Amino acid sequence: MTTEAPAILSTSAKELEAWLLSHKAPAYRRKQLWAWMARGAASFDEMRDIPKPLRSELGGSFRITSLRPIAVSQADRGLTTKTLYELDGGHSVEAVVMRYADRSTLCISSQAGCPIGCPFCATGKFPFGRNLKAHEIVEQAVDAVRMLSAEGKRLSHVVFMGMGEPMANYQAVIESVRRLSDPELLGISPRRVVISTSGLIPRIDQLGQEKLAVTLAISLHAARDELRDVLVPINRKYPVADLVASAQGYAEKTSRRVSYEWVLLAGVNDTERDAKELGTLLRGKRAHVNLIPFNPVEGTPYQAPDRAGVRRFRELVEAQGLNVTVRDTRGREADAACGQLHERVMRERSPVHVS
Ligand code: SF4
Repeated sequence: MTTEAPAILSTSAKELEAWLLSHKAPAYRRKQLWAWMARGAASFDEMRDIPKPLRSELGGSFRITSLRPIAVSQADRGLTTKTLYELDGGHSVEAVVMRYADRSTLCISSQAGCPIGCPFCATGKFPFGRNLKAHEIVEQAVDAVRMLSAEGKRLSHVVFMGMGEPMANYQAVIESVRRLSDPELLGISPRRVVISTSGLIPRIDQLGQEKLAVTLAISLHAARDELRDVLVPINRKYPVADLVASAQGYAEKTSRRVSYEWVLLAGVNDTERDAKELGTLLRGKRAHVNLIPFNPVEGTPYQAPDRAGVRRFRELVEAQGLNVTVRDTRGREADAACGQLHERVMRERSPVHVS
């Protein structure tokens, strides 16, 4: 059992205000403290409008974050930063900051490892660790804010596309989205948050009831069950036609277009047949297709298509009347596919961390 102090963001607004009152401090100090967290404060001592004795008491009772950065990797001439964090108990997760001209996006992790086990994915290769708590998800964003504010930039978008299946850690993910969007905390509009899923239909339906209006992304990768059963094993439980029906139900409820993600694997899912099947599945729907050229993962049998192959498949999908974009291949040198930095560090590191 850890004897470490709780992380400040593991307390709710109510709990923190109760703590403040019990330490003879007014409840409004909670808002001041959250405002500092939203600016990426790295210590309680930075919180200058909070009296010094209270800052010391806070420091004695709480940690500013539970995440410990253990490896950082840069790519794209500093535009992409991937950080590997150790969690309480020893598991680790990755988060990636991507800087663009008009925005900064954080790719966030919701689980240490992933139980889905897609065969092309670095995260799916190592054993599942555990679900993250809501504050551990939010702390990744606070650390990104800290990093970006030092450069005069703001964190504007968050995508749940890092390690893990967000819908398999549903309650913590929803709570973290509420906290990310809380105007008293990070104030990131849910419209700028993307939750991606391999296809847990009951949770997609539940998400539609939340009145959150986040963007839903489906990790599709194949439009026929026979192939998707292999690439995304959860398809055996939730077949592709049912998945698309559920996702489109979400689109109708929220008036938000669903993004269908398609990792391009050379010779596997980049043929004319695949494009036609995708057209049949999505034509006329509130849908957008996002093609992601595969980032090779050691120990998997899959290859990345060359540029001409990506262009050709894009044209084939466009010819089906679908909206399609190709995601840029950010961070290739930063161990970019989710789980790759974790894998490299764990290989180089001894002893391996287990809880
Ligand atoms: S691709 Fe996503 S759902 Fe599949 S194993 Fe990797 S992290 Fe999990």
